[in-house]
Amino acid sequence: MLGAPQEILQEVFGYESFRGPQQAIIDHLMGGGDALVLMPTGGGKSLCYQIPAIARHRAGRGLTLVVSPLIALMHDQVGALAEAGVSACYLNSSLSHEQASEVMARLQGADLTLLYLAPERLKTGRLLTALDSLYARGLLSLIAIDEAHCVSQWGHDFRPEYRELALLEARYPRVPRVALTATADEITRRDIVEGLQLGAARLFVSSFDRPNIRYRIIEKTDPVRQLLRFIAGEHAGEAGIVYCRSRMRVEEVAEQLQAEGLQALAYHAGLEAGVRQQRQDRFLREDGLIMVATIAFGMGIDKPDVRFVAHLDMPKNIEAYYQETGRAGRDGLPANAWMAYGLQDVVNQRRMIDAGELAGEDHKRIMRGKLDALLGLAESTTCRRVGLLAYFGEASSPCMNCDNCLQPPGLWDGTQAGRKLLSCIYRVRQASHLDFGAGHLVDILRGKRTEKVRQYGHERLSTFGIGTDLSESRWRAVLRQLIARDMVRVDSEGLNTLSLLPAARELLAGRVDLVLRDGSAWAADRSAARKPRQISVRGRAEAALNAGALERLEKLKAWRAEVAREHNLPAFVIFHDATLRAIAQTNPQTFEALEGISGLGEKKRQAYGAEVLRLCRPAPEDSLPSHAAPV
Ligand code: ADP
Ligand code: ZN
Repeated sequence: MLGAPQEILQEVFGYESFRGPQQAIIDHLMGGGDALVLMPTGGGKSLCYQIPAIARHRAGRGLTLVVSPLIALMHDQVGALAEAGVSACYLNSSLSHEQASEVMARLQGADLTLLYLAPERLKTGRLLTALDSLYARGLLSLIAIDEAHCVSQWGHDFRPEYRELALLEARYPRVPRVALTATADEITRRDIVEGLQLGAARLFVSSFDRPNIRYRIIEKTDPVRQLLRFIAGEHAGEAGIVYCRSRMRVEEVAEQLQAEGLQALAYHAGLEAGVRQQRQDRFLREDGLIMVATIAFGMGIDKPDVRFVAHLDMPKNIEAYYQETGRAGRDGLPANAWMAYGLQDVVNQRRMIDAGELAGEDHKRIMRGKLDALLGLAESTTCRRVGLLAYFGEASSPCMNCDNCLQPPGLWDGTQAGRKLLSCIYRVRQASHLDFGAGHLVDILRGKRTEKVRQYGHERLSTFGIGTDLSESRWRAVLRQLIARDMVRVDSEGLNTLSLLPAARELLAGRVDLVLRDGSAWAADRSAARKPRQISVRGRAEAALNAGALERLEKLKAWRAEVAREHNLPAFVIFHDATLRAIAQTNPQTFEALEGISGLGEKKRQAYGAEVLRLCRPAPEDSLPSHAAPV
């Protein structure tokens, strides 16, 4: 039962080959080195420590500790390992006293391969004594620290207990340690190295690209209708997350989706903990639910078959956008990241930044810059992926899997319009010594004699009526661009008034151009207008399956749901969608035929192989031998 990593990969997990840097990381850890692993969500971090854990355990080296802040997830992870035939346990506050004692007993017996721990557990004397004793006997083989960015005070997931994890280095210096995270930025990285005493660790950085995610950003006109069209057209019956700005909005949108007959749940921090837990469990365990949520939802949601993440409101920066969209398609199958945004989003986000009372001016400036970068991405006319990856310091080339690559947006030269808008802001200010909001400025440009226009005598401005050729929505698009390019500032203290910033001079002086994406084509229902060219994610995923295979897939899914319920585990822990699809497609009729199927390790073949074969056997009426047919 000894095994090289490659053999364990196949035998236990049923996978053919390592992905990206997995092999190198595993080799490094097996050789006794420390490592810091930065890998995007869904990249396959778990195997990086699970395989060394199994290999070293088989070689008589004892136990691997896995520190994780996500109590809710430990149960499922340990369950998944058990399904694969690996002995694992967890210790956290969800266990009763007796259950914890049982785990402690198994720990001393040294038959465990992995022990998952909440970080605060390492403060308990009894556990440390037990670990000391294992260490003294050479039976502490590896320490993995998951979600390692929790050590950083600057991140959004700071856990003070993570600071204490440095003690592991002092206490068990001979044990290799690996810290893993999907949060990549430079400051966090330095904090991890320092906070966890990983100065000698080798750094493994993967590409942050998520090639299976298709990015799409559209102009917001009637957001819930737009969302409904998107879901109905491309994700009927599939699991997804819809992010909204506020609790109230979450409730509203969830209700609207339910009214349309969709299976939607609401989730936000205003709900009682029990309700939140229950809805999260349902989302993980049942097929095809839509979670409508604030950003309170998501940390540690390991569900691999989330087929779409939709933003009805713009997040606060690219990091947040990338992290949230990253929850789609962890299984590597096609998935959609869809966002609707508008001028109001920009205004709201600005307001939140400016209103932050505790934050200093420097901090606010950084936050504004980050917001502008996201806005720039939203307004961009070139490959979204190239833009996203560039933001994280990675060079790439056009992806052919984002809206801009697939349907290059029309462009129009907004230079003149931009100049008109800027001069209008300037003239208004000059005439009235006041700043005004977007609506009023657009009214002036379009020559509308509203009450307000007359009240301030703005119909006498030289810019009055110079923009009748453009629609209001075009003007808003121009304005968003000017905001994105830091030429116009939205003052959010009072009434969202607009004022000029120094960069405006560049455009006024003719030193730069303003090329705009053709928002009108987007605002008009794109999917209706250009349906024939649009290939839905579902379409792409299911295209390869013929009718027989689709039928098998449905049967397999129903069976999986039952097994999952019996085992009290999410369906994907039993089999991933990708595995079921592979089974449906290859249609195995013998035990041997099960062997090459990805995600079907030895233990699962033994446990479920017979059932799978039974489900694949044709129904009796289909199986009449052909010579029985009348001639
Ligand atoms: P992360 O923790 O980095 O988000 P996971 O460890 O949960 O990612 O892995 C994401 C998914 O990819 C899991 O379902 C895992 O089983 C699968 N996976 C990981 N490595 C491989 C591999 N080498 N071949 C096939 N699937 C893999
Ligand atoms: Zn692209």
